[in-house]
Amino acid sequence: MSLLAVGTVAFDDIETPYGRAERVIGGAATYITLAASYFTDDLKIVSVIGDDFPQTELDYMQSRGIDLSGLQVKNGGKSFFWAGRYHKNMNDRDTLDTQLNVLTTFDPVLPESYKNTEYLMLGNLTPAVQMRVLEQLPVRPKLVALDTMNFWMNVALEELLEVLKKIDILTINDEEARQLSGEHSLVKAARKIFEMGPKYLVIKKGEHGALLFSGDDVFFAPALPLAEVVDPTGAGDTFAGGFIGYLASTGDLSFDNMKRAVIYGSAMASFCVEKFSIERLKGLSKEDINKRVAQFARLVNFDYEIEL
Ligand code: AMP
Repeated sequence: MSLLAVGTVAFDDIETPYGRAERVIGGAATYITLAASYFTDDLKIVSVIGDDFPQTELDYMQSRGIDLSGLQVKNGGKSFFWAGRYHKNMNDRDTLDTQLNVLTTFDPVLPESYKNTEYLMLGNLTPAVQMRVLEQLPVRPKLVALDTMNFWMNVALEELLEVLKKIDILTINDEEARQLSGEHSLVKAARKIFEMGPKYLVIKKGEHGALLFSGDDVFFAPALPLAEVVDPTGAGDTFAGGFIGYLASTGDLSFDNMKRAVIYGSAMASFCVEKFSIERLKGLSKEDINKRVAQFARLVNFDYEIEL
């Protein structure tokens, strides 16, 4: 089924305790679409870049079946730029710089061929742009997911709250869930966030896995214990791409299938962190992905006998 992803396509400077990478390919929509491309071939992107973005990377995205006709290229403009530094624990990071550049004046225009999309992933970018994309769809998609971050809660909370009213699933990290809800307990945070609009909530906890909330149901998926984590950048977006890509490929929105989608998302994120930028997301096979999913199943599987 068709999937449309919105988000940044960017350059990143990344510093981790293990090394640094300068001006590498990043951006929420880049990670989302690459991850999702392993599940669905009806995949479209809405974003904006400057003419400084390498053609080879665009060609690669196209070779993965990603339709780029909704990707605006601004002549003379500079692509979105983000710089971050990870702490020793590799879970926490500081944003050193965010340069919106071409994003400042971005007005997304959906090509006609995008308008009947069945799955919509509103990846991390200006909430007003996320709203503009939703407004252009004549028929509401079967599923609308949204990812955001503290940056937008700080600078555009009102617009964010408006768009939250219109979505089905919110994916954010634990600190962002606390900031958005004002609750420390993630269970209470989920209840508050449900009142804002979403029916499902995925809370990403980095190396501590992810939680899926729906009504009173909760599902937990650990992150795969990895020998080496090189660069966590994009893990959240990659998770989101794997998650919604899997849902779009199966067309099943039951809670049980969402649990599987969380595992597929976590499997894709486990690849992402093994190299800088998008490098590890290139050239995966179905078999690589299935093997990771099987590792997850073994990680949490145990027999028990309890009389209740
Ligand atoms: P993640 O590690 O999944 O949170 O995503 C990291 C990616 O998000 C990086 O490649 C950045 O280019 C991008 N990014 C960072 N800050 C923002 C922001 N404020 N809005 C949109 N994308 C961002």
